[in-house]
Amino acid sequence: MKPRIPYTKPSITELEVRYATDATANGWGEHCYEYIHRFEAAFKAHLGVKHAIATSSCTGALHMGLAALGIGVGDEVILADTNWIASAAPIVHLGATPVFVDILAQTWCLDPQQVEAAITPRTKAIIAVHLYGNLCDMDALLAIGERHGIPVIEDAAEAIGSVWHGRRAGSMGAFGSFSFHGTKTITTGEGGMFVTNDDALYETVLTLSNHGRSRTQKKQFWPDMLGYKYKMSNVQAAIGCAQVARIDELIARKQAILHRYRELLHDCQGCKLNDEQAGAVIGAWMPNLVFDPETKVTSECLQAAFAADNIDARVFFYPLSSLPMFGSQRGAKASTDIMSRSINLPSYHDMNDEEQQRVVQLVRGVLYG
Ligand SMILES: *Cc1c(COP(=O)(O)O)cnc(C)c1O
Repeated sequence: MKPRIPYTKPSITELEVRYATDATANGWGEHCYEYIHRFEAAFKAHLGVKHAIATSSCTGALHMGLAALGIGVGDEVILADTNWIASAAPIVHLGATPVFVDILAQTWCLDPQQVEAAITPRTKAIIAVHLYGNLCDMDALLAIGERHGIPVIEDAAEAIGSVWHGRRAGSMGAFGSFSFHGTKTITTGEGGMFVTNDDALYETVLTLSNHGRSRTQKKQFWPDMLGYKYKMSNVQAAIGCAQVARIDELIARKQAILHRYRELLHDCQGCKLNDEQAGAVIGAWMPNLVFDPETKVTSECLQAAFAADNIDARVFFYPLSSLPMFGSQRGAKASTDIMSRSINLPSYHDMNDEEQQRVVQLVRGVLYG
C-alpha cells in the first residue's frame, strides 16, 4: 500500500506549541482572557474590521449573528443549495426556514439572479458562502440586499485569504463568520470568529455570547437576556495567536498548492480547477476538480480511484435540499450536476511536490485510462 496522503492537516510549529504551553501553565485567573483578546485583535487587523468575537465554532458565530439580527419563527433565509449543513442548521434552530437557490456553474457560489427571484416578504437575510475559497459576486449580492433592505451575511469559513476587489472575504457583509476547525486554513482545533463593522450588532452578539450578560451589568450572575454559550477557551486562542501570526505564510502555501495543481494539469483536457474571476483573489482553501460531462468521469469513480491509491480526497458537498431533514428533494440543477462529476483534492500545507504529482498522475489515469 502506498503511503497515505491526507486531504487537510494543520500546520503546527514550535510557535503554536510554545503559546499553548504558556496558556496551559500561566493563562488562568487574571490572565484567563489574554490570548483570547490578542487573537481577536490580530484577526481583526488581518481582516480590516472593527469588531471580532472568538467563538467555539463557526456554527456558533452564525447562530448568534442570525439571532442578533432578530431572525426567528416564520422568517426565511436564502443561501446556496451547495453548502455544508453548518451554514443552514442555525437558521432551523432559530425556527426560520432556509431557502435554497442554485449555484453558478463557474464559481460554485450563489447565483445572484436566483437570490433576487427567491425574495419574499418573509426574507430576513441572505447568507453568502464563499465556497472552497471561491468568491460570491458580492457587488451583485450587496446591491440586491440594499434594494430590498435585507442584510447580506458572509460565511467566510472557507475563505481566509480570499479578497473581492480589494476587500477581504468576511469584511463586507452585515457580519462575517469564520471556522478554525482542524481542516481549515488556520486552526485552533475547534473554534470560530464572529466579525462585524456594526457597533450595535457587535454589542448584541457580545452579550448573547456571554449567556446574555451585558458587559455594563454590575450585578453578578445577572443575565439581561437569554443568551448562548459559544466561547473560545484561552488555550485554543493561544494556538490561534500563533496561527494568525503565520497567516500570510499559511494562505500563501494554500495558494501555491492550487497553483501547482494548475501547472501539473495544464495540458489535461476535460477537467477544471477552481475558477479565479478577474478582480478576485482566492484563498484556495480547497482545490476542487470538476470533470467535463463528455469525459463520463463521475464522483463515484473518482472516490474509488483515490481510495485505491490511499489518497484522502473528498466529495463536493451534496445539495442541502437533497438531505433527509430538508425533504430529500431533487437538488438544484447546477448544484447536483457539479457534485456528480467532481472531487476535492488534498491540499494540506506540508504537502510536498511528489505527493501533488502522485495526485495528478492518478487524475491522468482516470481521464486517459
Ligand atoms: C467548516 C464550515 C463551517 C462550520 O464550521 P465549524 O467551526 O465546524 O462550526 C461553516 N460554514 C462553512 C462554509 C464551513 O466550511
